[in-house]
Amino acid sequence: MEPSAPQSEGEMVDRNAACLYIVSTPIGNLSDMTFRAVDTLKSVALVLAEDTRHSRHLLDRYGISTPMEAYHEHNEARATPRMIQRLQSGDSLALISDAGTPLISDPGSRLVQAAAAEGIPVVPIPGASAALAALVASGLDASQFTFLGFLPRKGRERREALASLIAAEETSVLYEAPTRLAATLGEMAEGGGAGRNAVVARELTKEFEEFRRGTVDELARYYTDTPARGEVVIVVSGRTPVTPDETALRERAQLLRAAGATVRDVARTLVAETGAPRNLAYRLAQET
Ligand code: SAM
Repeated sequence: MEPSAPQSEGEMVDRNAACLYIVSTPIGNLSDMTFRAVDTLKSVALVLAEDTRHSRHLLDRYGISTPMEAYHEHNEARATPRMIQRLQSGDSLALISDAGTPLISDPGSRLVQAAAAEGIPVVPIPGASAALAALVASGLDASQFTFLGFLPRKGRERREALASLIAAEETSVLYEAPTRLAATLGEMAEGGGAGRNAVVARELTKEFEEFRRGTVDELARYYTDTPARGEVVIVVSGRTPVTPDETALRERAQLLRAAGATVRDVARTLVAETGAPRNLAYRLAQET
């Protein structure tokens, strides 16, 4: 019997229809498998896995003998239409990734989008994800955060991603390869985030789980001297919003105007120099 599908007021899941289940699996500690994940993987016609050999180990541990097929970034475009046909013919499928929650810096969005577009029920089976595990134990503000996944590797996109991380008032959570950890922290420090509190969460749920806390600069130096091993998540605290000192801003705006800057340039300079809210900067620039 298939595990019970959730009920919602919007789109009720038809209990008789074939479903696409998005199943979270452990991020290291195999005991982090939910009962519902096991039931689901046992009940479906096919498990779609990023790496079938890797996932066989997990399925064997839980006595799951459901057939598996590879579904990964190199074949998802080709495989998706076939999987949709299979769902439409009445077979429920489960998507898993190598670790954690599918689609979170992992393949699957194409399949979910196609299933949703065809009106096929998509049912999440929640569980581990490294981003949330790192965030909730980081000690940094978890009330609002941005998940950045892996930063772009280079160029303007990377610079912009780092700049928006440094400008953000909420906590940022990102994935990084251990070999790039020190360099990424170093770039954050150079980009204006040196004094920001941060946490590197390493080997979550595994034997050598570790949380290293410090400023971005301290962590950059630590990991330059002691290269990280294993898997890591970086959590960086947001910028503390400053209460703008209107008098000082007005004086600065007057100086800039007197030197010939346009209203627009004055406003931009105030924002860049002080982090003042854009609307305040424009108002003061116009008033001078
Ligand atoms: N879908 C996964 C999830 O829900 O967490 C993430 C997959 S992504 C391809 C792999 C990255 O997740 C790693 O490079 C690392 O940044 C992070 N990660 C996964 N498992 C981890 C662990 N046990 N400890 C720390 N970071 C982990």
